[in-house]
Amino acid sequence: MTATLPSHEVAAGVTTWLSAFGDALSAGDTAAAAALFTEDCFWRDLVAFTWNIKTLEGRAAISAMLDETLPWVQPRGWKITHGEEPAGAGGVVEAWIDFETAAGRGHGHLRLRDGRCWTLLTTLDELKGHEERRGPNRPKGVERRANPARTTWLEDREQEASELGITEQPYVVIIGGGQAGIGLGARLRQLRVPTIIIDKRSRPGDQWRSRYKSLCLHDPVWYDHMPYLKFPDNWPVFSPKDKIADWLESYTKIMELNYWPDTEATSAAYDEEAGQWAVQVERDGELLVLRPAQLVLATGMSGRPSLPAFPGMDTFRGDQHHSSAHPGPGRYRGKRCVVIGSNNSAFDICGALWENGADVTMVQRSSTHIVRSATLMDIGLGALYSEEAVASGMTTDKADMVFASIPYRIMHHFQIPLYEQMRERDQEFYDRLEAAGFEHDWGDDGSGLFMKYLRRGSGYYIDVGAADLVANGDVALARGQVDRLAEDAVVLEDGTKLPADLVVYATGYQSMNGWAAELISQEVADKVGKCWGLGSDTTKDPGPWEGEQRNMWKPTQQQALWFHGGNLHQSRHYSLYLALQLKARQAGLPTPVYGLQEVHHLR
Ligand SMILES: Cc1cc2nc3c(=O)[nH]c(=O)nc-3n(C[C@H](O)[C@H](O)[C@H](O)COP(=O)(O)OP(=O)(O)OC[C@H]3O[C@@H](n4cnc5c(N)ncnc54)[C@H](O)[C@@H]3O)c2cc1C
Repeated sequence: MTATLPSHEVAAGVTTWLSAFGDALSAGDTAAAAALFTEDCFWRDLVAFTWNIKTLEGRAAISAMLDETLPWVQPRGWKITHGEEPAGAGGVVEAWIDFETAAGRGHGHLRLRDGRCWTLLTTLDELKGHEERRGPNRPKGVERRANPARTTWLEDREQEASELGITEQPYVVIIGGGQAGIGLGARLRQLRVPTIIIDKRSRPGDQWRSRYKSLCLHDPVWYDHMPYLKFPDNWPVFSPKDKIADWLESYTKIMELNYWPDTEATSAAYDEEAGQWAVQVERDGELLVLRPAQLVLATGMSGRPSLPAFPGMDTFRGDQHHSSAHPGPGRYRGKRCVVIGSNNSAFDICGALWENGADVTMVQRSSTHIVRSATLMDIGLGALYSEEAVASGMTTDKADMVFASIPYRIMHHFQIPLYEQMRERDQEFYDRLEAAGFEHDWGDDGSGLFMKYLRRGSGYYIDVGAADLVANGDVALARGQVDRLAEDAVVLEDGTKLPADLVVYATGYQSMNGWAAELISQEVADKVGKCWGLGSDTTKDPGPWEGEQRNMWKPTQQQALWFHGGNLHQSRHYSLYLALQLKARQAGLPTPVYGLQEVHHLR
């Protein structure tokens, strides 16, 4: 077993592999390179080789990719990352690696089994000649010589703001100034790509501010950092929504972003010949057209409510709204509230309504996966994103890379044992829930919450207390499909009548290509197809297998149109690769895309 090998032998094994791999690539011998992989191998590439986000599965796929990309990628300099000792356990050797291509410098991760590569991750870190000015290369900030034409930082910023989008066109327009648009904007600024972020709301962070009052992030602080600027050590583990909103607002200023609030994009059209978008915007009531070369939709995965159309909704006499429009529990004290849905938002809203003295019923229409927050933190995220992980030397960047190094095809194998542990630890809790009639699942293959998130972006609740309310009956549970709304009640298909003064539709969100339909055209939305999901052929994630998330952070079938979003972790990590793809195009570098994804589903 490799676990027993001394560390110098482990390192020697990695060096031998890297040197054989580097030699095969330099010789253009793609068959020899592919032969260095195990038969069940995976190579996940984030932009370095493919100018795409792509996982190659098996030797044939790897040699086919290399046949096409090697001539222009020209990889070299494969070595173990300085200061990172390769480690072996359970027959697998893991190593952090560095390499170069013609265009840039990359970083990666390697897993070897019996001297062959089982999983390889290659990521582009920076473009040669377009490095970010940070660390030793940071700007001086001051000119230490007499200069009658001296301008101050403030004057420069004001001049930029008065010109960009007015007399000078940005290279990139990002529609949507939530955390995704802001984080990407920060990266593009560091890469010196002229960018405007527009948002129809008045202040950065307003998307979070507008959500229901009780909302706190479900993910812990170590998972949530924005690029460049970490939350301070005294930041709470679970950030209240208004606090995260204020952070985003401050971040926008600190990172010197060209952020246009109160600016709504009303339409966009691409002129192929000119290689330019015409984005119609209404800024503080004034109409103008922005003409960027690249358009990013960062309009939110949880931005387009999926509202059901039940008969009788038009005659219901009480309040009714989608969860995204829920104003909070204050005005519903003593009222009969029916919440349709049984995932995160439904539980959060039910909990807050109950705390405020409402009479609450949850309608469960399909099964839900629940995992207790503390258990998820300990077992699911603890090794990478926790105080203990930080104490053991884990950095956010490294944790993101570890996560990225596991190919989606086999990720569930890593997840299933964790969820088995969670089930065991909280068995009594699940027994109580099921005894209360709650339909609970662990995902189609027992792989739990994160796979559900990646596959369908729904179907779960990270329990911060409201599940107990359902288990003990404080929040009543009704199961079944909604037939219609009466004037004062929700009526289920089995005839059950749930009297209601308020109905909340916690019924989720639509695919992000709906934004393209709304802003560009149905034709373009259909051309790019569904966003999100892996093609896992599990519930709400139809096959065929895609290997990567559909349309996110990578080229789409519509030239110069990009989708950006996801949770805080994904927005942070993948904004780097999207920013580099945009920078390369702005710099005029060749960016031949290998394996542009095909479209299998429209929504
Ligand atoms: C209830 C809830 C809880 C969540 N909890 C977590 C959590 O704990 N951790 C986590 O990581 N993620 C969480 N998420 C998921 C995700 O992080 C959030 O949805 C987050 O807001 C997504 O950020 P975003 O920038 O992609 O999109 P959004 O924050 O939705 O921002 C999109 C922006 O686009 C703007 N916009 C849309 N159309 C236009 C237009 N035509 N013109 C101009 N502007 C436009 C909107 O005004 C909005 O500000 C949660 C989501 C919800 C709904």
